[in-house]
Amino acid sequence: MRIAIVGMGVAGAYLASQLHENHEVVCFERLSEKDFDAVCAWGTSKFGISEFAADCNLDFDDYVIQDGKTMYLDTPAGILKIPLIGLCTFDKKNFVKDMMGKCAVNYGTNIGLDFPKEEYDLVIDSTASRRLLPHLDEQLFIPCIQYLVKYDKVPFDDFYIKPLADLSGYFWYFPLGEHYGHVGAGDSRKNHVKACDDFMVKYPGKIQKTVGRPIRITPPSRCQPFKEGNVIGVGEAIGTVYPMLGEGIIPSLQCARILVKHLEDFPKYRAAVLDEFKIYDSIYNFVTSKIAGKFNPILGLPKLISLYRHMKKNQSRYGMEVRASDLLSLVKL
Ligand SMILES: Cc1cc2nc3c(=O)[nH]c(=O)nc-3n(C[C@H](O)[C@H](O)[C@H](O)COP(=O)(O)OP(=O)(O)OC[C@H]3O[C@@H](n4cnc5c(N)ncnc54)[C@H](O)[C@@H]3O)c2cc1C
Repeated sequence: MRIAIVGMGVAGAYLASQLHENHEVVCFERLSEKDFDAVCAWGTSKFGISEFAADCNLDFDDYVIQDGKTMYLDTPAGILKIPLIGLCTFDKKNFVKDMMGKCAVNYGTNIGLDFPKEEYDLVIDSTASRRLLPHLDEQLFIPCIQYLVKYDKVPFDDFYIKPLADLSGYFWYFPLGEHYGHVGAGDSRKNHVKACDDFMVKYPGKIQKTVGRPIRITPPSRCQPFKEGNVIGVGEAIGTVYPMLGEGIIPSLQCARILVKHLEDFPKYRAAVLDEFKIYDSIYNFVTSKIAGKFNPILGLPKLISLYRHMKKNQSRYGMEVRASDLLSLVKL
């Protein structure tokens, strides 16, 4: 097939690596090659991502910047120390570039609705928050901002997270070795810039770069259709982001792998995506009811239990020890 891949983030780059040998693949990326970046805090679970690196003949360990040991979760009741199981920061920009390998990429090409889709058998929409697929009215985007900060002495030696009131978002400090960290926040109530700036006043450092974009946290079941004509969506463009954490790297890779498997059978792709990410529906309901101040701990208990069970069963995939007490402290926010 002649395939266009639009958006060379983690899902687009993975697809390019998996499809270029058997298809004619043409890749497009909005950013110029010089400015190409992976706008993200660069946190992931090495146990969750390694298999996708291996699919692309890469060794994930080559990209690890800092192996996490403890996550400091700052709650009104105090700082909880969550033991980590593989959560790390990694050089996502070079990882994505290496996944593309030798595939030629048309950088600096912002694909719009005038794109000549008819020249391709398939157009893959891996644009994350933008989407070439039909516009969706009911989408929840969390606005985010992030600084890359250089410190003489870093404020935390490990991961630090501070959830905001009612779980409307959270602030993060992700460690990037001895002198650097990603300082960022996302907040549906738009206090994200203030949260970062307050942190910078408390822990001054030199801001090297500022990035930002909204994260789509609406789950796949509410991001349909995944296909229109010969355009098919993948990754965050169809909602593969864990709603409570804004974690989208591994889910977008999972989604891309499902697309490789069912490339020529859309109904199977759609069904497999909905099945893989069905737990996101309850998590999304939990998060939106918390934000709206309507969460009822008694009525919501079964959903919380299924969320806990899912994360506990997959704790190395999530990169941390999953404890009921930590989850309960979030419910109380
Ligand atoms: C500030 C921030 C921090 C985050 N931190 C984490 C984290 O630590 N861990 C984690 O797991 N997730 C994190 N996420 C979420 C995660 O980055 C995304 O969910 C994930 O990268 C989605 O993968 P994707 O391939 O679908 O899209 P992306 O990786 O976002 O790639 C989309 C690509 O498409 C390109 N593009 C967009 N529109 C067009 C167009 N019209 N034409 C051509 N190209 C286009 C973009 O430039 C980009 O390169 C974070 C997100 C943000 C915004």
